[in-house]
Amino acid sequence: MNRKGTSVSASPSFHLGDNPVNAYQARIYAQESSPSSVAVILELTENARDNATEVTLTLDVDSSTYKDGTHVLVPKRLICEDNGTGLTHSEFLNSFCGAFSDSDVHRDVDRAGRNGVGTKTYTSIADRVIVLTTTGRPSEGLDEHSTQLSSTLPKGLELPKDGDADSVWRAYEFRLHSRSALPPLWTKASPMEMGTRVELVDIREGTEISFEMLLERLSYAREWLQNSAHTFVLQLSGSVPQGLSGSRRINLRPWAPPVKNWLVEAKGRSDQNLPIFDPTSKESEVVAASSRLSEAVEFDFRVVGRNNEGQMQNLDKPALLLEVCGALPYAPNLEGVQSARTLPLLTFLGLEHASSIGAFCNAVCGYARVNSLGLKNALRNNKTTLASGPGTAEVEALREYLHSVFRVLHRAWYNATRSSQDEAAKDALREAEVEVNLALKGVNRNPFKSGDITRGIPKDKTHPVPPPARRHRWECGECERRWLADATFVPAVCAQSSPISGIDEGCGSSNIGLAKNQPRVGDCRIRIEQLGDAKIPASFQFEREDIDLDVPVVRVNLASPRYIELRGSGSMSGQAQKRLKQYLVDVALVAIAEYNAETRGTSFSQELGDLYYNRMLRFVGIKEYESQLSKLLENTTPAVEQTELIGPPRGAVNSCVANLLKCPRPIFLGTRDSPRQ
Ligand SMILES: [Zn+2]
Repeated sequence: MNRKGTSVSASPSFHLGDNPVNAYQARIYAQESSPSSVAVILELTENARDNATEVTLTLDVDSSTYKDGTHVLVPKRLICEDNGTGLTHSEFLNSFCGAFSDSDVHRDVDRAGRNGVGTKTYTSIADRVIVLTTTGRPSEGLDEHSTQLSSTLPKGLELPKDGDADSVWRAYEFRLHSRSALPPLWTKASPMEMGTRVELVDIREGTEISFEMLLERLSYAREWLQNSAHTFVLQLSGSVPQGLSGSRRINLRPWAPPVKNWLVEAKGRSDQNLPIFDPTSKESEVVAASSRLSEAVEFDFRVVGRNNEGQMQNLDKPALLLEVCGALPYAPNLEGVQSARTLPLLTFLGLEHASSIGAFCNAVCGYARVNSLGLKNALRNNKTTLASGPGTAEVEALREYLHSVFRVLHRAWYNATRSSQDEAAKDALREAEVEVNLALKGVNRNPFKSGDITRGIPKDKTHPVPPPARRHRWECGECERRWLADATFVPAVCAQSSPISGIDEGCGSSNIGLAKNQPRVGDCRIRIEQLGDAKIPASFQFEREDIDLDVPVVRVNLASPRYIELRGSGSMSGQAQKRLKQYLVDVALVAIAEYNAETRGTSFSQELGDLYYNRMLRFVGIKEYESQLSKLLENTTPAVEQTELIGPPRGAVNSCVANLLKCPRPIFLGTRDSPRQ
């Protein structure tokens, strides 16, 4: 159907009375009285799709701007043509202009269409709507107006009688409150010709259309577009912007999920059991088939997981479509922002309050579709909701079923999010433990081999618990008894553990010696816990794991601001993991140095220096260290170093640091940038 554009301005018209008003529709229209221009165009095209196989939408562009990555068009005219069954004279007057919700068209399950309030929304962006139509069916309703119409019809055009084949292309003007015929524009049609052309003219000022958004929204009509008999053409005319010159005529494709490695997928029908596999927990959950839905829901939902760097991904254009009889009650991109594309459906499912739903919104996409008259009847309010009222049970059944699917998808996504964060944090912890252990133990497998640990009684409670006394295990050659004694004490007889203990527990034999397996100090462990004071970053002490094993334990404060800042709440990047590791090393070594200084009565700086020195020796070895040191000292002098690092000497603190700089230990050098990192 290729009708020429009509020149309507000067045509005499014949008034056909006020549009019929239905109280319910009027109320709904009042609620929806300022729909977006995109919503109006969708309405226009959905009505055109109703029973057509070809739809052509033409945007006649007046001017355009380019902002935020989209072309914003100001239209001069909007024309929507379809090859559907057309409207008889009566249908135009009553259905098109009257929008009766109980008309047959709107009760047909195969036809998308809405409840009919839609045509009125045309007038929210255009003062006048010119409708051109003919049907392949018998003429209907023309007899009533034939006398008045005949006088202004083009010469030689005959009006069919009601019941005869419809043989005219009829032109009408539709406005908010009234309609009229435009007889001078009526032309001959072949009896089997049919179709409708709706042209929005006198576009209201301020009407703008985001081309890219319109294109995307139109592509959501998946069910209609996927039918191989259907074609939808979007074309631009007039002042087409440069950037869209290649898009003057687009054959629309149905929306499809992007190509991704999906974390989890739910694809199937509501009348069959649906297994959903969670790759994180490695478990499969079966969503039971629903017996409450009168028609099966067909669906394909997918959730995206981590990328190759291990980070949770977002989709660029997530979309969740619920197609009820080809209509979309929950528009997927109302705001043009990511989460707005999927939130409406998730809200319908009652998931909007789930924690973390914001991020989930941008990781999920897919569609569900159902052709059910019950649901269609429940589709009210200009298709923005599945309202309660007639069909409530059906709506509830749909909500319940889809919720049971999304519950599993959301959990799988949540598990993946958590696991990726926990794994990154665990890796950071493991790496930090290795370094802290190197620093703590230095060159010794047993840091207390030198015997510098003595049992002491703390003078007051502010002192940390002293390190465990080094103990030796002794064995009796006579009775095979084994016992532990302080390393500084050498027993003389069986079972003697201190100078004052007698022989009452032993056999009295002096045939004793050191046992083979001695108590040992385990590797340092870092535990993330909530310490009492959020300002304490970490604490350190030895803990006896069993009689033979003492474990150095650093407790890093989970509630410390820095820990929380580094750990963050979302998924953890490789960079964040490195920073967290370094933080764990730093606070652990400070805590150990503090502990050592207090229990040994030494200086904190020296203990910290020792720890970093140990760590560096274990990382790069003494030769590398010495060569680095001599290179450094060749090029500089302690005084220059000091000035460069901390400025000119200023009192006691600086002279203390200067002393540290003279000592051949890398106090602060090489901690963050040691060669292996
Ligand atoms: Zn003995």
